[in-house]
Amino acid sequence: QSFSDLVERYKVSQGLVDTVTQCGYSEPTPVQRQALPCMLEDRQIFACAPTGSGKTAAFLLPILHSLGAPAGGPRALVLCPTRELAHQIYRELLRLSAATQLRCSVVRSVKESKVKEREATIRKSDIVISTPNRLCYLLNQDAVNITLDKVRWLIIDEADKLFEGSSEQSGDFRQQLDQVLAACGSKQRRIAMFSATHTPSLAKWCRHHMRGLINITV
Ligand code: AMP
Repeated sequence: QSFSDLVERYKVSQGLVDTVTQCGYSEPTPVQRQALPCMLEDRQIFACAPTGSGKTAAFLLPILHSLGAPAGGPRALVLCPTRELAHQIYRELLRLSAATQLRCSVVRSVKESKVKEREATIRKSDIVISTPNRLCYLLNQDAVNITLDKVRWLIIDEADKLFEGSSEQSGDFRQQLDQVLAACGSKQRRIAMFSATHTPSLAKWCRHHMRGLINITV
C-alpha cells in the first residue's frame, strides 16, 4: 500500500497525496497503513502506537480528506495533553493542509490571547487543536458561544496521558471529555483514539463510547 493507492481506493485528492510526498513521506508507516483505510471508511479506531510512529499524519490525512472544502465552524477536533504537543500537531497540520483551503487553529492560553479572540478563531476554523483544559475553559465562559455540533471527527491523542492525568491536565479529564462529547452531538461524530499504551480503563471507555471500534496495534 502506498499513498497513491488512496487516490484510487478512497478518492483521496491527488493534491493531498502530492503534499504528503512533498513532506518527504515516501510510503506510509505501519500505523498509517492500518489507520488510514479505517478512518477513510469512517470507522472508529483505537490505535496503540508509540510516539514517533507517524500517528499525527495517520489522523490528519483522513480528516483533511473527509472535510473537503472549508465550511466555517469546527468539524474536526483534536484533543491532546500538552500545549507543546498541540503546537507540534498544528505544525504538521499546516504542512499537510497546504493544498487545501481549510482553516486550522490551535487554542491559545489565557496569557496569549483574549477570550473573544479565541472564540472568533475557533468559530471560523474547520479543524481545532486544543488541550481539554483550554477548550473547556472557553466552553464554560458565559460570554462565549462556540458550537461543536458539526464535529465529525474527534481525535484523542496520547489518550493514556489524558486518562491517567499525568499531563498538564489539572481538571477532571473524563468530565471534560463528557462535556465535549455532549457538545459534539452523536449523530455523525466519530472518535479516533491514539495511545502509546493500552490500559484496561481505556479499553473499557472505548467499548462504551465507540461502536464498531477497530483496535490497531503496531
Ligand atoms: P509522529 O509520530 O506523528 O510524531 O511523527 C513522527 C515523525 O515522522 C514526524 O517528524 C513526521 O513528520 C514523520 N512522518 C510521519 N509520517 C511519515 C512517513 N510516512 N514517512 C516518513 N516520515 C513520516
